Amino acid sequence: MDAVVYKGPHDVAVEEVDEPTIEHPNDVLIDITTSCICGSDLHMYEGRTAAEPGIVFGHENVGVVTEIGDAVSDLEVGDRVVAPFNVACGFCENCENGKTGFCTNVNPGFAGGAYGYVAMGPYKGGQAEKLRIPYADFNALQLPKGDEHEDAFSLLADVFPTGWHGIELANFEPGDSVAVYGAGPVGLMAAYSAKIRGAAEIYVVDRVPSRLELAEEHCDATTINFEEGDPVEQIKEIHGGGVDCGVDAVGYQAVDSEKEGDGAYDPARENPAVVINNLIRTVKPTGELGIPGLYVPEDPGAPDDMASQGRIGIDFGLLFEKGQALGTGQCNVKEYNRQLRDLIVEGRADPSWLVSHRVDLSEAPEMYEAFDARDEGVTKVLLEP
Ligand SMILES: [Zn+2]
Ligand SMILES: [Zn+2]
Repeated sequence: MDAVVYKGPHDVAVEEVDEPTIEHPNDVLIDITTSCICGSDLHMYEGRTAAEPGIVFGHENVGVVTEIGDAVSDLEVGDRVVAPFNVACGFCENCENGKTGFCTNVNPGFAGGAYGYVAMGPYKGGQAEKLRIPYADFNALQLPKGDEHEDAFSLLADVFPTGWHGIELANFEPGDSVAVYGAGPVGLMAAYSAKIRGAAEIYVVDRVPSRLELAEEHCDATTINFEEGDPVEQIKEIHGGGVDCGVDAVGYQAVDSEKEGDGAYDPARENPAVVINNLIRTVKPTGELGIPGLYVPEDPGAPDDMASQGRIGIDFGLLFEKGQALGTGQCNVKEYNRQLRDLIVEGRADPSWLVSHRVDLSEAPEMYEAFDARDEGVTKVLLEP
């Protein structure tokens, strides 16, 4: 079957790979109907992780069950399902506590597994024709049959729950003012979640006009372009002081507007601490910071030695002085995806406006390039085999 294979920095190819098989009685196989390209794939694509060539990408997967293992009891051939990007067992201590992003059974020596991602276990990605879902009764969330809401449901694998998780990590409550740094898919979903959950005010910070327009149009956000001046000062000016809580939907490859470079995303412009430090300044004393944006313990392309070991210069003194709290880590998708699915089914949420492209799997290399360049209008790309 065809799959998107990582060949090396800035290079992916659609190649023939082995089809998955049932490896354990609780596995199912699905025919992929949609697999999304994610911002976190770009960290690997750019050679900014320890990813080795040969990985099949794709951790945001929807498909139809074609084969079930003997021990699968809740799924049948023909069911349409979405798989959380986390692979989780469902019965370890962390899974029992709902922390399925930190399952201790699926990736020996590590807490947490995922499809098609460096260091996240042996699970092949779904940017392919077929996918194996392990612990399928637990991991495969059933969707209504047919193809209705396919775009919106595909966002249940990662970015909608991860955005929701971002404001959850920030201890968001209805009536709060919230600042979201980053208007990529996760930031936009965090802002959209804040809108659904009754935020009083939403600020979204980015530099790409088309992304800021989406935040304004679909999330009722006040948009802040950080290339036009210090985003913290811009927010404080409009809001009249620090906001209640904030979300970092950028992560370690953050652009610092104070730094010069050849292009917007020249690594010379990066400062892995800039977003967290801006959030510490943006959020009021005792407010909370949710950090679903990705940070890594090892970055081969880091701007300096400290950052290459995942150590970054956070203004911890100021954080402490303000009595702020930090919530970090990848989303436990299972915590939210059932409820978010039902909001979509009942028409109370429809995040499909995020999707800018649905293309054939064979077009993946061009789409990786365009998404990586943050081309105007390329916000979320879905691949269809
Ligand atoms: Zn993702
Ligand atoms: Zn587990």
